[in-house]
Amino acid sequence: MRTDRSEDPHRQRLRERLEAILIRTEKATSWHDKVGRLRSLVNHEGFVPVHTKLAGEDLDFLADARDDLLRFSELGLRLFDLHQPRDAGGITSDSANPILRCRSCMWRWPCPTFRAMSESFGGGHDSTLPESG
Ligand SMILES: [Zn+2]
Repeated sequence: MRTDRSEDPHRQRLRERLEAILIRTEKATSWHDKVGRLRSLVNHEGFVPVHTKLAGEDLDFLADARDDLLRFSELGLRLFDLHQPRDAGGITSDSANPILRCRSCMWRWPCPTFRAMSESFGGGHDSTLPESG
């Protein structure tokens, strides 16, 4: 979380919004374990009555969680579509494995954007990804 005074104001606002979502989400209570227990209590109408205490931080998170997650998944899909490999078209000694570059940022495939997405959402580190350069 660095703030560079010379940074473009648009970039700065965007960073602040993303950091606010991160902080809001970190402060909220995780429902992961509770949901596992609640799932078995879903009644014949498809609901489970929940009585719980929500902290102010949880309400802050819940108020925007759906919209935030929709935005993040839309962003992820847009980045996924933008950053995809294409044949670099150069002369290579290995015609079976041509050098691929990202069609958007032109880094060698897999590009840093795809690698970042893969590390965040790909279920951990993928040892099959070669080093990019
Ligand atoms: Zn790329």
